[in-house]
Amino acid sequence: MPADAPRALRLELDAPPGGGCALAEAAFVPAALARDARAQAPRRVLLVTSDTHRGDHLGASGSGVPVRTPNLDALAARGTLFLDCWVSANFTNPSHAALMTGTSPQATGITSNDRALDDAAPTLAERFAAAGFRTFAALSAHHLGDAVSGLGQGFDRVAWPDASQRPSGETLDALLPWLDEADDDPRPLFVWLHVFDAHLPYVPLPEFERLGYDGPADPFDPSRPPLPFDDRLPAGLHGLRDVEFARAEYRGCVASLDHELRRVFGRPALDDALVAVVGDHGESLGAHDIWFNHAGLYPDTLHVPLILAGPGVPAGRVESRPVRQVDLGRTLLDLAGLPDASFPGRSLVAPAADDDGTRFALASHATSASITRGRHHLVLQLVDHHQRWHAHDVELYDLVDDPDCTRDVTDAQLDVARELRARLIAWLDAAGCARWAGRVDDDAALHEQLAALGYVEGADASDAPLFVPDDCASCRRFR
Ligand SMILES: [Zn+2]
Repeated sequence: MPADAPRALRLELDAPPGGGCALAEAAFVPAALARDARAQAPRRVLLVTSDTHRGDHLGASGSGVPVRTPNLDALAARGTLFLDCWVSANFTNPSHAALMTGTSPQATGITSNDRALDDAAPTLAERFAAAGFRTFAALSAHHLGDAVSGLGQGFDRVAWPDASQRPSGETLDALLPWLDEADDDPRPLFVWLHVFDAHLPYVPLPEFERLGYDGPADPFDPSRPPLPFDDRLPAGLHGLRDVEFARAEYRGCVASLDHELRRVFGRPALDDALVAVVGDHGESLGAHDIWFNHAGLYPDTLHVPLILAGPGVPAGRVESRPVRQVDLGRTLLDLAGLPDASFPGRSLVAPAADDDGTRFALASHATSASITRGRHHLVLQLVDHHQRWHAHDVELYDLVDDPDCTRDVTDAQLDVARELRARLIAWLDAAGCARWAGRVDDDAALHEQLAALGYVEGADASDAPLFVPDDCASCRRFR
């Protein structure tokens, strides 16, 4: 299917194939109440996903990172800013598949960037379409396009690049004419805009190059000593001599996407729209010896920005309670006056009293998994991978004492580790109840593109049990 092709609406299923899987469903809402909710609800819903966007790279977050995000900050000021939003996957397509189905990656079965979400999966766009919304998606990465990801289901129009990626300015060039047309259309509208600027190769708009950088004029000056981790730098940064330059360019990329977003936030027809901005995963800028990619399940890759604004959203509020990106779809449907639309998740605006804020994540290719509850974050390696992580190893961190997860406290808090590990394994065992793992795209050009973006090929473990205990020292320790 070529880019920009319309995609037919899909047959919708209310339950995943196989049945028996307890997905959360919205409570029954009487029809008159639902009509009333819809009558007062916003007619425009804009969901922006910002790829590879760290949670601390947002001016309004108060993190102290010298980044410039005036447009996102203004959105946060007129809405609610969630300071502690974590994703359930550290790769683009698994995270977006989770977001668009309200279902974590261990249950969608989408754990890589080359596997499509099956048409049987009920998606957020399908829910909006079924309620009479027009649905547009404008995307900035080729592998997120419908042909690879399957995420075009439910959208009337989808645009994505033939090249591996494009700057958000070009994606907006594709989207804005559609919005011009829709301005005169009485039907409600759901728009998904995906921006990829913060992803490698870190090329900001010229005005944001070297943002906050005061290092040498040539950060690649070969007369300077090589960095000790030179062999682990991504392709575009080979030969870099000053690591702060890459961090500055990353900040510049975030400033660039913020700058471009003014073109859509500033549209009068969207003044009373419901707007959400969320990351799909973060980026590791050197923590845990992970240099400029999003491997690993640490706060660097799991913590993302989340802003909600518009009708029904408290204005000027800053929320510090832990929330899950995977709950955003449910939240948007509720706020759009569609509380009776069947879709998993819990509203972020009206938190349930019985939600203890536990969060789970599954790494790309199901190589590791994590659970985060209260002050503790536990990572369990599922297989040997990346030549550094060993199957069944456990790490436990105290996020209050050590928010960057630098000191493993498994030995000191073995009881906590035992309990969290058991709960994480139970979560992993729930895999297989809602498998929407569709076709794998084995196109050589796609895989070249993915490799150039830094995606290392790995086994896709989504067809096998995710955790099988053995007699290794780690498993014996937790028995
Ligand atoms: Zn991504």
